[in-house]
Amino acid sequence: MPREFPYRCLNCLDHTVVREFDVSHLTMTCPVCDSFERFVNGDVFDQYEVYESTPPADLDWGKLDRSEKLLVSEHVVRRGHSPADFAVEDSSAVNTQ
Ligand SMILES: [Zn+2]
Repeated sequence: MPREFPYRCLNCLDHTVVREFDVSHLTMTCPVCDSFERFVNGDVFDQYEVYESTPPADLDWGKLDRSEKLLVSEHVVRRGHSPADFAVEDSSAVNTQ
C-alpha cells in the first residue's frame, strides 16, 4: 500500500488533502476557503507547530514571519538542518558584502 502524505492549507489551516507523493508543498485552490493557496507538507507543519509552542533555543523564532518559520521547519524536517543554521544575523553585524 502506498504511503499517503497530508498537505495543509496555509490560508485557513483547516483543510488537508492527501497525496501519494512526498514534496515540500503543493499549490492549489482550497475547497474550504476557496483561495488559491500553498498547502504545506504535514510533517513540516507539525514541526512548525512544535516550534510555535516550544521555540528552538538557538534561533530567534519570534522574529521570523510565518513563511520564514515554515521554511526553517521544512529544512529541519526534510533536509536535516538545525535551527541554528538559520540564526538571524545581528543587525549591527558588519556588512560583509
Ligand atoms: Zn483553505
